Amino acid sequence: MRINHVLPERSEVVVIGGGVMGAAALHYLVELGCEKPVLVERETLASGSTGRCAGGVRTLFSDDLNRRICDESIRRLERFADEVGQELDLRLWGYLFLLATEVDAARFAAEGARMLSPETAREVVPQLDVEGLTAAAFDERAGYVTPDLVVQGYSRRAAERGAHIEQSCAATRVLAENGRVTGVETQRGTIATERVILAAGVWSSELFDLPLERERRHMFFTEDAPAFPAELPLTIDFATGFYFHREGAALALGGREQTLEELAPIAARRLPSLEDLGIRSTWWGYYEMSPDHNALIGAAAEPEGLFYATGFSGHGFQQGPVVGEHLAQLALALEPTFDLSQFDVERFATGAVRLEQNVI
Ligand SMILES: Cc1cc2nc3c(=O)[nH]c(=O)nc-3n(C[C@H](O)[C@H](O)[C@H](O)COP(=O)(O)OP(=O)(O)OC[C@H]3O[C@@H](n4cnc5c(N)ncnc54)[C@H](O)[C@@H]3O)c2cc1C
Repeated sequence: MRINHVLPERSEVVVIGGGVMGAAALHYLVELGCEKPVLVERETLASGSTGRCAGGVRTLFSDDLNRRICDESIRRLERFADEVGQELDLRLWGYLFLLATEVDAARFAAEGARMLSPETAREVVPQLDVEGLTAAAFDERAGYVTPDLVVQGYSRRAAERGAHIEQSCAATRVLAENGRVTGVETQRGTIATERVILAAGVWSSELFDLPLERERRHMFFTEDAPAFPAELPLTIDFATGFYFHREGAALALGGREQTLEELAPIAARRLPSLEDLGIRSTWWGYYEMSPDHNALIGAAAEPEGLFYATGFSGHGFQQGPVVGEHLAQLALALEPTFDLSQFDVERFATGAVRLEQNVI
């Protein structure tokens, strides 16, 4: 017996990477009339940052464009079963930002958040220690969803309608001649194409020069926590980055620290009852950090025909539906639904940097 993978020799568009961006782009390529796009994934679908992420979706961002993208993405996740044919477990139980400084409180208020006193925040999450907090900001149109379901939904739908998905197949080079894309070289041969969507997450810079930094982010999963509210909002101690949400009957926790020993005192300060909860499992994944904590999205100046989207700095999962569609529109030379030209990487050369401050 032998395994006989047959890669298409040619495709109108090749997508590199099978996280939320690649899967969404593939889905929208098919939706927009591209007949047989190909997606190559080095490992398995959702094995990069997407499969490690908290699945959080929210609308409170300091950058208005992020607010609009995420508001539309949430709408699409709400319609996902009808439009993509996959049931999701979207739990819009809100995001509760715990704010220590007047400056943060004023900024979130200006962004349109529903502001709560620290005491009211404790009514929402009775286990909180609110000492030292100035206020809380509640984002009602927010919550979380299992990321793998989103990737599975998009990729299955696309494959059913003609897309070709090749897993365990790394792209090793984007080929170009005379400044134009001519193909994608992979571990299993070359696919001739004039358009490539580069959605390889933090690994995108191995194939195209982008200002990306990798930051490890760890998540920890507790034993069952029945005392916490059933519909717990995703709660964030904004100053430290410590956050938690429900994961079934248990809790999921995360933060900026690289070990549980470092995170534990920060977490227990806001949530003292955590000291009594055992940790059952843990994992980590990469945040794809850009210099201004905003996405890098656009068409490469050279080679022509290369379209990229990465650098989401911790909020990329929730941009998948809108940015995936945008990538497909760029690749097919269609009018984009959203003008995302301000996220072009050229902004660092022209000085048109856009700082996103609500990075978790
Ligand atoms: C712990 C954690 C929590 C997070 N929480 C949230 C959250 O609550 N909300 C939110 O919006 N975002 C969150 N994020 C960020 C989010 O996960 C990412 O922004 C998003 O998943 C990026 O998706 P992507 O498709 O661009 O990249 P990825 O999911 O990393 O996908 C890239 C894919 O490309 C593949 N690949 C790489 N190189 C090649 C190659 N040469 N050839 C072929 N394939 C290749 C990889 O194997 C991978 O599957 C979190 C991230 C982490 C780590």
